[in-house]
Amino acid sequence: MIDYISSLNDPQREAVTHGNGPLMIIAGAGSGKTRVLTYRIAYLIENGVDPFRILSLTFTNKAAGEMRHRIEKVVGSEARNIWMGTFHSVFAKILRIEARAIGYTSNFSIYDTDDSKSLLRSIIKEMGLDDKVYRANSVFSRISAAKNRLIGPEDYLANPVIKADDESARMPEVGRIYKEYARRCFAANAMDFDDLLFNTNVLFRDHLDILNKYQHKFQHVMVDEFQDTNVSQYLITRKLAAVHQNICVVGDDAQSIYAFRGANIENILNFQRDYGKDAVKIVKLEQNYRSTKHIVEAANSVIARNRNQLEKHVFTDNSEGALIDVIKASSDNEEGRLVAQAIFEAKMQEGLRNNDFAILYRTNAQSRAFEEALRKLSIKYRIIGGLSFYQRKEIKDLIAYLRFTVNQQDEEAFKRIINLPKRGIGDTTVAKISVLASEKSVPIWEIVGNVSQHIAGRASIAIEGFADLIKSFNLLIDKKDAYEVSAHIAKASGLLKDLYEDKTVEGLARYENVQELLNAIKEFVDNPENDDKSLSAFLQTVSLLTTADEKEDDGDNDKVTLMTIHAAKGLEFKNVHIVGLEEELFPSQMMLESRNDLEEERRLFYVAITRAERRLTMSYAESRYHYGRLKMCEPSRFLMEVDQRHLKMARTHTERSGYGATRQDAREGRAIPDRDRNEMPTAGSMSFVRSLAQKTARTQSPQPAVAHTPSAGFVPSDTSNLAAGMKVEHTKFGFGTVKSMDINGTERKAVIQFDTAGEKTLLLSFAKLRIV
Ligand code: ATP
Ligand code: MG
Repeated sequence: MIDYISSLNDPQREAVTHGNGPLMIIAGAGSGKTRVLTYRIAYLIENGVDPFRILSLTFTNKAAGEMRHRIEKVVGSEARNIWMGTFHSVFAKILRIEARAIGYTSNFSIYDTDDSKSLLRSIIKEMGLDDKVYRANSVFSRISAAKNRLIGPEDYLANPVIKADDESARMPEVGRIYKEYARRCFAANAMDFDDLLFNTNVLFRDHLDILNKYQHKFQHVMVDEFQDTNVSQYLITRKLAAVHQNICVVGDDAQSIYAFRGANIENILNFQRDYGKDAVKIVKLEQNYRSTKHIVEAANSVIARNRNQLEKHVFTDNSEGALIDVIKASSDNEEGRLVAQAIFEAKMQEGLRNNDFAILYRTNAQSRAFEEALRKLSIKYRIIGGLSFYQRKEIKDLIAYLRFTVNQQDEEAFKRIINLPKRGIGDTTVAKISVLASEKSVPIWEIVGNVSQHIAGRASIAIEGFADLIKSFNLLIDKKDAYEVSAHIAKASGLLKDLYEDKTVEGLARYENVQELLNAIKEFVDNPENDDKSLSAFLQTVSLLTTADEKEDDGDNDKVTLMTIHAAKGLEFKNVHIVGLEEELFPSQMMLESRNDLEEERRLFYVAITRAERRLTMSYAESRYHYGRLKMCEPSRFLMEVDQRHLKMARTHTERSGYGATRQDAREGRAIPDRDRNEMPTAGSMSFVRSLAQKTARTQSPQPAVAHTPSAGFVPSDTSNLAAGMKVEHTKFGFGTVKSMDINGTERKAVIQFDTAGEKTLLLSFAKLRIV
């Protein structure tokens, strides 16, 4: 057994071994919050608490899986019995058990955001509203915000403040849309993501016997990433912990990054008030175990600029580490190349693996340039978020079949599959069925199952055929496991055949994807950790995957991770690249309007910095394509907010190049400090980012890339950011201009037109070149 207690520092141990009563751990990034939570659960089980009576809420299902794994190492297989997962997955499970109490049945569907938006579009159309004014996205986010504040449709319609707000947004009918949306979800026996929390609150509010059952059941409630819980989530935990008062929350106010989803930092402040100031035990963890001194201090210097924060002093005893590199690129594509190159070199020089690296960006759309560049260098990567496996059309199609087999009231699944494969049932017929169901206030299936009474002609026969098919599928779900049913449906529905007949490359890929989904279902069924092997149980798991729970396509884990900073919360990587540090991108243009927004954006930057263990690189481009137009960019204000002592305008592939001086310094003959990494900076190296910013703001640099150049000498390996158009100097051939680059695996060549020596092709690993 692992002696985990001795691996903790004093305040960590205090938190782990705390007995009963509310406990709040408010601590800095990388200070062991998640570790404490994990070991606290292990400790409780060791001390006789029944794992079935522990509820632990995490940010992703993957995080829950990892935690469970660690706890298992201490207490053995009993760890499987802990109630652990995201808020959504845990409460979906409870809602399934208690569904009848709130008028649902336990096989309810979970609508993903696409389903929700598609339903909203139908409603907006049916209500005769202008879909350019009532965009599904905006309506959806208004409804979602209301649900997360526990405002139902009736309250929404009656609230004058909301009414005024909708009117000023020129969408006065959102309340009515919301009401119809809620009715239709209910009629479809479906809940959207927000409903899972909203309805849990309703369940606990209206059914005290049920609340009571769970209040007594859960002797201990734990919440990781507490700073990002919203009102709806907070209330659920408060209700559940009301009897035993054993609630342990861990969080970091400096990492609160979900205000836009209704997360409420006030929760941290309310905790003491709600559980009683004297009753709450507060533990502060300030020692960071994750990162080097440069990284921790850089993060501190950034977050110190926020006004709204609890006082903490995060420090580390880890080594000083390397300075933070700053890469400047002329364009987004060049940024991609430079970052891929830096990863390539760091792998070689530091003996790292692909999975030691992460590229973090503000928005998913930024991934493209990095993907291309990584692919060129044959570096494997994975993208978390973006268009995930489960968002692909063919996967959603089969899942819709599975959903409709389990729940024939599911309107969105119905719309997706009724004419798939083609059965000659047109949109008008489908709309007619929807409208009929709506008018009669009956589920869609009432119409579909008795179609001849409602619709005449050929369409009616086709629909009858469809209804018979679904009935035959439905008969299987209690007799066979999820895999057997799904494999049968994939075949008998005609979906597989349809894909098989498409012999294009894309068609083949789609066919393989569906096979891959079937493999995943088989895995689910074979996994001994899943007691319930029904189709319904599988669907629930799939519906609640978060972006960070992505399915691996090929099971190979050694890949560079590309993801948004939001998705990176709680994770750590040896080397981290924060990319796209430009004004209006990061901080995002949408977050520049108020101090609160800007502070949230800064917290996001703080989260990004603190993901890095050993090396951090920040980069920005001077131009990038945005909505199809080339846009000039300025470096992000955040770059300037980092205490410049920790930065180096360079790419550090050789230690010798790390002098932190700018080209400008060199050109103007300023003394270049030959400083050691441990020394304080000299005035000459200060504020170079700022000076660059001014320069970029004035004009676009005439040369495509201005990264760090070695302050002296010709260092062969310092040309890794060489690109076409750059001016160089060679020891023998003199000055010249790079015409083109040829990167082939590890071998890099440059074709250079020298002013006097003519054109030469040079192997860069040997060429004695420097960028001028
Ligand atoms: P975040 O704020 O990013 O969520 P966190 O506070 O949850 O971070 P952890 O992820 O628990 O921090 O820990 C950060 C790293 O430090 C982990 O690799 C963890 O194993 C390590 N660590 C934490 N405490 C100790 C300790 N006492 N001794 C050694 N390593 C530790
Ligand atoms: Mg954590």
